[in-house]
Amino acid sequence: MNFSPESRIVHAGTERAPGAPLSPPLLATSTYVSQGEPDPARGYGRMANPGWEAVEEALGAVEDAGAVVFASGQAACLAALLSLAAGRERIVMPEDGYYNVRALAEKLRPHGARVVPVDLLDLAAVERAVGERPSVLWAETPTNPLLRVADLTSLGVIAAAAGAPFAVDNTVATGLLQRPLDFGAVASVYSMTKAISGHSDVLGGAVVTRDAALLAAVRDWRTTGGGIPGPFEAWLVLRGMKTLPLRIERMSGNAMAIARFLSGHRAVRAVHYPGTTTATLDIASKQMPNGAGPLLSFELAGPGGGPGTAAQADAVIAAARLIVPATSFGGVESNWERRSRWAAESAPPSLIRLSAGIEPVQDLLTDIEAALAAAMPG
Ligand SMILES: *Cc1c(COP(=O)(O)O)cnc(C)c1O
Repeated sequence: MNFSPESRIVHAGTERAPGAPLSPPLLATSTYVSQGEPDPARGYGRMANPGWEAVEEALGAVEDAGAVVFASGQAACLAALLSLAAGRERIVMPEDGYYNVRALAEKLRPHGARVVPVDLLDLAAVERAVGERPSVLWAETPTNPLLRVADLTSLGVIAAAAGAPFAVDNTVATGLLQRPLDFGAVASVYSMTKAISGHSDVLGGAVVTRDAALLAAVRDWRTTGGGIPGPFEAWLVLRGMKTLPLRIERMSGNAMAIARFLSGHRAVRAVHYPGTTTATLDIASKQMPNGAGPLLSFELAGPGGGPGTAAQADAVIAAARLIVPATSFGGVESNWERRSRWAAESAPPSLIRLSAGIEPVQDLLTDIEAALAAAMPG
């Protein structure tokens, strides 16, 4: 019997025996009582913790796959990259994706793999890049922070033809809104820090795959590399995940309403949201049928109709009374930031990335409208 992912998330890690705690226990231990032949599942605290296994069960349920959880999204990306790029010369990745993952991949260069940044919407360029040398195709869609949508079906076909393992950073959408493994990806990679945990209280990451060899390789990197989540962190992630279906639906709805509102606002020059960007609307509705996600970004109009400035963006953010100025996204509290405040980020100067939380949408629209009016008079 296979209940829906939404039910399996709620029940992951729970036991049904009489007297069992309904909430999975938080097991703080560095080792397990044992002698003789070690049990790999209960040998030492770096090898296993029941709290990780519950999160892995929940994540796996979402994508009908296996999962390995990590201390952060970066640690998960590192394990995936090390596993997939072994013996390959190129890591082909989006030029506009999350800059810290690109920075991480760049660090593998002395170990033999070179990053080739491409526009993932330019399929001919992707095909060339992965076809020339043994490559990994690393996609991110929608991208952080420009929310560009790449066509997973086409990327899967291109990767398969080139014999390139295809991984997708699915952090922005989560597995409830987008299932990369159904489009030929061997791995979905996550920062669980964002919507999956969803309460701005924990960092975590995960690699999700249906490939047993990759699952074992990634788990081995965790055990030997030590990028393990703490038991309490895993407990927080599991607690947060139980409401992911509710949160992601509400946040996506809020983000859509905000994107529509901003698209009609004269202080706004451009809005980037998978649910409203017309050029990729067909692709988005095909591969994200249940919602376009919690994240959007927008650029301000500058004096005389040109691009807005960083100072204008700072003024808008400072004028808000509800939306929190902070980085990260996918939390229950709406937050926003000017992305160009990060030196290594290549976003336009006035680009504001906004993560829609779970507040009533009218409060968010009121706050945004007032902040724009206060910061951009006339
Ligand atoms: C945040 C993020 C990461 C990194 O995750 P951490 O949990 O911060 O280490 C990776 N990819 C994307 C798309 C992200 O947004």
